[in-house]
Amino acid sequence: MGTGDYAAKRDFERTPEPEGGKRRKGGKRPIFVVQEHDASQLHYDFRLEIDGVLKSWAVPKGPSTDPREKRLATPTEDHPLDYAEFEGVIPEGEYGAGTVLVWDTGAYENISEKDGEPIEAAEALKKGHLSVRLFGKKLEGGYTLVRMGDAADADWLLIKMRDDEADARRNPVSTEPESVLSGRTIEEIAQAAEDDG
Ligand code: MN
Repeated sequence: MGTGDYAAKRDFERTPEPEGGKRRKGGKRPIFVVQEHDASQLHYDFRLEIDGVLKSWAVPKGPSTDPREKRLATPTEDHPLDYAEFEGVIPEGEYGAGTVLVWDTGAYENISEKDGEPIEAAEALKKGHLSVRLFGKKLEGGYTLVRMGDAADADWLLIKMRDDEADARRNPVSTEPESVLSGRTIEEIAQAAEDDG
């Protein structure tokens, strides 16, 4: 794992995105982040800290709190840890051009199992079946990521687990659109970047 693909796709003279390099002290719980990304196609990037990088999936419809909803999650390149705090506008002509908003973030706990025994997140990822408990502001409780097939580039599904935090009536993607970092909407972030020139 590494963020070489991430760096290769970007010109850091032009994009305000972080170059990376942040290290985290041991003992801290790993983090997750969900970033709304208003690119050529609007999607939500779901990222989990695993082994020093943010493993990433693009989720077109965003995460659901309804266990009956299976959300398509397409794997994308590993991102550096600093990306979890990135909010702003990636300029036209750059990779992923468009506005990014930190839609939710917090700690998470790996609760993956194999044959009833706990396994490391990295191992669960390799096996294509990863379960996590999120401690976000909007998303809480268990979520499972399941890979559809064995191909390295296979799509995954992101599914809410059936637990106390499951709620078929909530729809936070549409009812709670603001950034958990700045309180801004995606339009306000885009406008602020325009005002800055
Ligand atoms: Mn994206």
